[in-house]
Amino acid sequence: MPIDATLPYDDNNIFAKIMRGEIPSTKVYEDEWSYAFEDINPQAEIHTLVIPKGQYVSWDDFSAKASAEEIAGFVRAVGEVARMKGLVEPGYRMMANIGAHGGQEVPHLHVHIFGGQFLGPMIAR
Ligand code: 5GP
Repeated sequence: MPIDATLPYDDNNIFAKIMRGEIPSTKVYEDEWSYAFEDINPQAEIHTLVIPKGQYVSWDDFSAKASAEEIAGFVRAVGEVARMKGLVEPGYRMMANIGAHGGQEVPHLHVHIFGGQFLGPMIAR
């Protein structure tokens, strides 16, 4: 069920629980600003999620309110995860869903990294 991305942050969302270690995840990467783990229901050969450690519902929230350090740290983490996965060549796709029309289901900002195969058109038709 897609979320309303304008709602306040819910500290009990599933990714907050994953970061606190209350729900298991397959960790890929972690630093001061970010945490990355494998998607439980992969949509491509490689499907990894990168989340900021700060409490941001969506890209909208993050881009408006996060500090320059948080933004830089998170952007670098997304790139680092893709490099760690060996995706730069032949390429990959990154995506963030925002709110109802974006189909966002978990109310903690996450960037999807897809790769390991040709990914087809940008949006399903
Ligand atoms: P969204 O639709 O919000 O952009 O994407 C949410 C993603 O989170 C989906 O790809 C879904 O498979 C993934 N996901 C949902 N619950 C869990 C979970 O408990 N663990 C992991 N690793 N991924 C999850």
